[in-house]
Amino acid sequence: MTSLRTRIALLYAALIVVVIALGAFAIDFAFQSLLIDQARLSLDQTSEQIERDAEEASTFGLGGEAPVTLALSSRATLDHWASANQYVQLDTLSGQTLGKSANLGGLTFAPWKPDRRDRSYGVLHITGNRAGTILVLNRVLLDENARPIAIVHVGQRLDNVDQLVARARGILLWITAAATIVIVIASYFIAAWAIDPIERLTSAVAQIGSERLDRRLRWRRRDEVGRLAGAFDAMLDRLQSAFARERQFISDASHELRTPLTIINANAQMLQRWGDRDPDVMKTSLEAISEESGRLAGMVSGMLTLSKAEAGDAIPKEPLVLERLADDVVAHANERAAAEGLQLAAHHSDGASTIVIGDAGLLRQMIGNLVDNAIKFTRDGRIDVTVRRDADTAVLDVVDTGPGIDEGDADRLFDRFFRGDPAHARESEGTGLGLAIVRSIARVHGGTVSARARPEGGSIFSVRLPAEPDSFTTGS
Ligand code: ADP
Repeated sequence: MTSLRTRIALLYAALIVVVIALGAFAIDFAFQSLLIDQARLSLDQTSEQIERDAEEASTFGLGGEAPVTLALSSRATLDHWASANQYVQLDTLSGQTLGKSANLGGLTFAPWKPDRRDRSYGVLHITGNRAGTILVLNRVLLDENARPIAIVHVGQRLDNVDQLVARARGILLWITAAATIVIVIASYFIAAWAIDPIERLTSAVAQIGSERLDRRLRWRRRDEVGRLAGAFDAMLDRLQSAFARERQFISDASHELRTPLTIINANAQMLQRWGDRDPDVMKTSLEAISEESGRLAGMVSGMLTLSKAEAGDAIPKEPLVLERLADDVVAHANERAAAEGLQLAAHHSDGASTIVIGDAGLLRQMIGNLVDNAIKFTRDGRIDVTVRRDADTAVLDVVDTGPGIDEGDADRLFDRFFRGDPAHARESEGTGLGLAIVRSIARVHGGTVSARARPEGGSIFSVRLPAEPDSFTTGS
């Protein structure tokens, strides 16, 4: 029952059986009405014959002195009108029985009071040894002057109608039962045929484990299952490259972490051997250990930020004013810049509010990394941080007067652990994660980052983020 195939087959079969049953019911009803209409027609014909005879009798005064009705109600006349399955009864206008055909026996039709209609139909159910149903036509008889003279009841047994309907029902029942069996079996096979590609897809997919991510289904079908297989192949492509990136990251990270660890280890051993005897060794070793452990801590926190930035939608976001974030970062870094003899300033129109949706901590870190790099790589001159609007985009530029960027490096700068020429940096070697973090944070906010050299020297790092439409600019 749990299998999709069985469920589809049963559902399909149940639906068709309901449709067949409704069809059979409709046929049954139509057939029954047809037979009853025929019976009515035949009653009408008989009653019309009686009507004609009554008119004739009154025209020729067949009753002599007695009313015409007396002549009409003679047994012989009534029997003449009746037939094997039709009965006739004549009543006065007030409902007294004047006579009835012999085949009625002890039965009497109930009196009928004519209202505005000159005829009506009714049904008489009889029990006992003559059990059955009689369809009765009640009709007012008129004389040649169209005056009512009597009421005639003509009845017809519906036995043959009942028999025919019963036989037709039997046939319909058999057809429905046979069709149900055929449909259940056929639906099972149709469902199996429809589900088969899904089962083949399932077993093909089951063979692709994490070790065999290079395998593809490559189905050429153009139907829904073909599209599913295509979507699956595309997902495998993305998975495979994500796995490759992760593997690369782990191998790069281990490699990068090994260098400071080796230095710390070597210096610790030097300390152990000569530290207590040689104060110079002690000083240089401790300095190296402190510097390298600082780098290690920087790398680890950088990697944590990267993984946080790559969490995507899981990051809580709120509307933020980009100018304010830039001002905060610049205020924070000003002292350091001044200590290096650099001028650091933020620029934007007074009162401008460029609103971006994001995480304040991550965006501050993104701007902070760019400003830190600018301070690190600029020996003298100035650093300018500008925020501006470019249509629907918020643009943040960090411009410095440092060594600039080699054209070939412009894209690679943002790769994890990429470091340019160490001769350019003022301090010791960085972690190589700063710009990778910038790119991740920009991406997770739906933006981009790029770097280019300025013709007059120095570099420009530009972050472009989607700006909220209600951002506004005032002042000049
Ligand atoms: P790190 O600064 O730790 O080396 P980053 O990812 O921040 O790592 O930077 C990667 C490389 O990009 C740097 O090694 C440097 O070569 C280059 N770079 C970054 N910022 C600047 C800048 N403002 N001017 C010149 N080169 C830069």
